[in-house]
Amino acid sequence: MTLRSLLSAANRKILCSLHRRTVLLGDRGPIVSFTFDDFPRSAFLTGAPILEAFGGRGTYYATASLMNTSDGLGDLFHIEDLHGLLGRGHELGTQTFLHSSCRKASLADFQSDVHKGIRELRRLVQHDSDNFCYPYGHVTLGTKRTLAPYLASARSIFPGINGPEVDLNLLRANSRNGRGIDRRQLAAEGLACFLHSRRTPESLRLRMHAEAI
Ligand SMILES: [Zn+2]
Repeated sequence: MTLRSLLSAANRKILCSLHRRTVLLGDRGPIVSFTFDDFPRSAFLTGAPILEAFGGRGTYYATASLMNTSDGLGDLFHIEDLHGLLGRGHELGTQTFLHSSCRKASLADFQSDVHKGIRELRRLVQHDSDNFCYPYGHVTLGTKRTLAPYLASARSIFPGINGPEVDLNLLRANSRNGRGIDRRQLAAEGLACFLHSRRTPESLRLRMHAEAI
């Protein structure tokens, strides 16, 4: 193990241990949440019908300044996608306005970007999007503590399973290839996990068929 990976593991442990806001999952059985960051149009146009076919709904974390733009993965969301997903019972969350990193911005600037993201989504679709995920998965103790009063939840990209005690200030999430998920633990203990995916539809379809979620 390198010094860098040791430091990063220690930092992660501290981030997970402090400024927690916990709820107990209770006896709800296994829960899997599918979340889409930024998000590309295909996550809604193709991904949402797949989830709906299984009776599920997704969480879409929108970065308002990226609306109507494209990146290497294709077109990102349009305004009608926001209306469409809300109308069909999916969850709209936020990922700041500018997709800034809290490691590069001051705490005040990052906090302001988070609030601007929430305000902009409210202006666009009259919806309070107080479920949040950290751009790039970057989290600091300062942001975890400072944002807590304003957010229903804040999602990281720390892998693992949420529960039985869930930290709403730092939800864990697993990339779509499922690394870090112990499926037997998920099935047996009824814990929650969040999947992070940007380009999902076909792998999502395969996963859902394979795991019969
Ligand atoms: Zn992002």
